[in-house]
Amino acid sequence: MKIVDIRATTVAVPLEAPLRHSNGAHWGRFVRTIVEVEADNGLVGLGEMGGGGESAEAAFRALLPYLAGHDPFQLEALRFKIANPTASLYNNRTQLLAALEFACLDLMGQHLDVPVHDLLGGKLREQVPFASYLFFRYEGEGFAEVRTPDQLVEHARRLKREHGFTVHKLKGGVFPPDYELECYRALAAAFPGDRLRYDPNAVLSMAEGLRFGRAIEGLDNDYLEDPVFGLEGLRLVREQVRVPLATNTVVVNFEQLASNVLRRSADVVLLDTTFWGGIRPCIKAAGVCETFQLGVAVHSSGELGIQLATMLHLGAVLPNLTYAADAHYHQLRDDVIVGGKLAYHEGRIAVPEGPGLGVRLDRERLARYAELYKELGGYPYDRDPGRPGWYAQVPNERFADPYAAP
Ligand SMILES: [Mg+2]
Repeated sequence: MKIVDIRATTVAVPLEAPLRHSNGAHWGRFVRTIVEVEADNGLVGLGEMGGGGESAEAAFRALLPYLAGHDPFQLEALRFKIANPTASLYNNRTQLLAALEFACLDLMGQHLDVPVHDLLGGKLREQVPFASYLFFRYEGEGFAEVRTPDQLVEHARRLKREHGFTVHKLKGGVFPPDYELECYRALAAAFPGDRLRYDPNAVLSMAEGLRFGRAIEGLDNDYLEDPVFGLEGLRLVREQVRVPLATNTVVVNFEQLASNVLRRSADVVLLDTTFWGGIRPCIKAAGVCETFQLGVAVHSSGELGIQLATMLHLGAVLPNLTYAADAHYHQLRDDVIVGGKLAYHEGRIAVPEGPGLGVRLDRERLARYAELYKELGGYPYDRDPGRPGWYAQVPNERFADPYAAP
């Protein structure tokens, strides 16, 4: 099997409402680049990339001369062809490599008529559990604003009712820490027996990170995720707070993982199939974590069904996955895959069983959301539509006003 073509299509898929985070917002839609890698036998492998609100079409098209004639089974060769660790200093292609790895695994699975998890050691679970992933949100069409503790609890109640979540993650770093602490405590009070996690995306100062961490010690926390920035910052919080720490910001490659093993800063490594350059590097990293008794979970950088499939296949094969995965997926109104959005049952999504990634493109939906992208364009992920001129600093002291009218 040889690669003969790469196609890339940028789509904008509507969210229920604009999602606020410490660095800005997702402005009511996800912009994702859908990648189709065609082989000489007529099979098409699917990949996906996005997160920053921009198109990556041109970057994928530019890789065709590197990939034409490449055998999709040769994944280690692919890594060195396009993301050699020193050559990549100039072009930083890790995320592009990830999307191409997804597509090659999809091609391999279809060619052999087996699901991707069979190529990765075989599945250990039939479904992957997910956390509710709660955001402060601006009002969206048909959806009320989420800003106050009561609105947040109501939002979580609806998600729990509809999808069955028993783990709740609050994405914070938007409002002052004391206000978000009140919100977090409201969740703990509303869902006794459920587990919690808080992630302010590394924007707290050391003093606020310590204060927040100590204040939640008595709650049923999975972990405190990136309260402050940097391996050294996390290490100092970890020394003084009795809550496990997690990160998806500063252990995102093997060099950083080695540092974290030698001098522990985070207890739980959130593996992201895009940030790490594919599903397979995440499995390698999970093996290191297993050896050194570090926890692992599955990170979400914002996904449609193709990327979600990579997270499900990863989650299926990790022996040491003892935490629910994260997904933005339930915040979406639709998807580009055949059958529309995959469903949660009791907080879990079934691992796809079809050949390859087990999801296929719905051409009508792809065309509809490609049109929507043409109409609306990208958006600046690191800006907040409600705060013109504002940009994030780390540590942040210019939080949004929780009492201001939107
Ligand atoms: Mg995070």
